[in-house]
Amino acid sequence: MHITNLVVHVTTRPPNPNPIRDALQALPQVGGVRVEVQTDAGIVGVGDAFFGRPVGAPEALGAFVEHVLKPIVVGEDVAFVRGLHQRMLAETEYHGSVGLAMFGIAAVDTALWDCLGKLHGVPCWQLWGGVNRQVRAYAMVGWLNYGDDEVQDICRKAVDQGFRAVKIKVGYPTLAEDIRRVEIVRSAVGDDIEIMVDANQSLTTAEAVRRGRAFESMGCLWWEEPIPAADVDGYAALAAALDIPIGAGENLYTPADFARFLRRDAVDIVQPDLRRAGGPTALLQIGALAEAFHRPYASHGGGPVQLNVMACLPNAIYLETGLIPEGSPLKLIDGYAQMPQGAGFGW
Ligand SMILES: [Mg+2]
Repeated sequence: MHITNLVVHVTTRPPNPNPIRDALQALPQVGGVRVEVQTDAGIVGVGDAFFGRPVGAPEALGAFVEHVLKPIVVGEDVAFVRGLHQRMLAETEYHGSVGLAMFGIAAVDTALWDCLGKLHGVPCWQLWGGVNRQVRAYAMVGWLNYGDDEVQDICRKAVDQGFRAVKIKVGYPTLAEDIRRVEIVRSAVGDDIEIMVDANQSLTTAEAVRRGRAFESMGCLWWEEPIPAADVDGYAALAAALDIPIGAGENLYTPADFARFLRRDAVDIVQPDLRRAGGPTALLQIGALAEAFHRPYASHGGGPVQLNVMACLPNAIYLETGLIPEGSPLKLIDGYAQMPQGAGFGW
């Protein structure tokens, strides 16, 4: 099956004046890029890259995919999807394969795997070989811009939808405010629901140790990205000092970045992002790498691509998602997300 064309669709929307917010940034959710790979078999594969911010990024990425990545893949055989991934990395190396370029590589890689799954009429997890029929899911619902009542309402709603775990943002100016936030959420969801906390890179290592001890004593499930993402020394110190598992990885690029963290015992729960990792090809590598180090994998962000990857990983523990919107194909049973059954990355 050969690639005959690649079409780029850019969607932009005006920034939300009341964006969701974490300790690092506001996220007005400005749009995304959809890559459509057309083939001589009549099969069309789709890959997406979304942007929480900044304005202008979807247009810039659209031009990048059109002018840099499209010429690499058009005319090639989809069966060589991993080879095409390598070529995209090699061709973008001069100006840097990370950042925006990696968002594009991820979208194209997703579209190529989607083509292969559709060609064979099976979900991608069946191409790769499955392990899990379902995986636990948690709701990332506790944004910092929510007041006390709002955060309690949305966490209760998540429990009503069947989630057995919720994640909330922390990283307030003081530890006392962080503790108060966890207590407010605990009182809303009760003792049987897991709570994860995420400070989005906002603290110093010393402060992250101090707050981590508090979250540990409050029974939180994991302590996510407390310090700047690239600080492997800081993460190693943090993981050594605390018993609560340290989650990190959503802002790391490429499997090599994860290897650095794993070799240093700097991360307990590996959390790659589909876009920054570089697509399903890279997520599978990172998942296997984490397994070799006996570390669990929890997705950053949800959707059918992460679910397909997690169907194949023995170390997959949690899918991240938001509240499930009306009519969503995501199916939750006893807190577990069910694996998609559609061809490629279809539901
Ligand atoms: Mg996070």
